[in-house]
Amino acid sequence: MCVFCKIVNKEIPAEIIFDDTNVVAFYDIAPQAPTHIVVVPKEHIKSATEVIDSGLWAVFMDAVLQVVKKLDLDNQGYRLVINTGEQGGQTVPHLHLHILAGRNLGWPPG
Ligand code: 5GP
Ligand code: ZN
Repeated sequence: MCVFCKIVNKEIPAEIIFDDTNVVAFYDIAPQAPTHIVVVPKEHIKSATEVIDSGLWAVFMDAVLQVVKKLDLDNQGYRLVINTGEQGGQTVPHLHLHILAGRNLGWPPG
């Protein structure tokens, strides 16, 4: 079982900030910004490319925006990132979206 499935199943601890029927969000263990949240679908889907049911995106993004609003990030701004595959920098093979906020974020990314 992958590390994010273990977090979803509460087999390893995480600081969970959001948990509903289909989606879980928790604080990243190695934050890259003052606020760094990881949002995952509960279903083990390997990457963005592997999403079969496009309806998942609506459910997923709705959850992401609930987290953004819960943390009151909409005024200051934030960044949403989905690293995908090797060159995309994906290290955990379970679809996830990063919410990064709390500092001026550089562009282009490294
Ligand atoms: P990726 O590099 O695949 O886009 O992002 C994976 C993220 O998951 C990384 O930012 C990494 O710090 C985070 N991460 C990996 N393992 C754990 C863990 O066990 N707990 C938490 N909270 N975050 C993790
Ligand atoms: Zn998984």
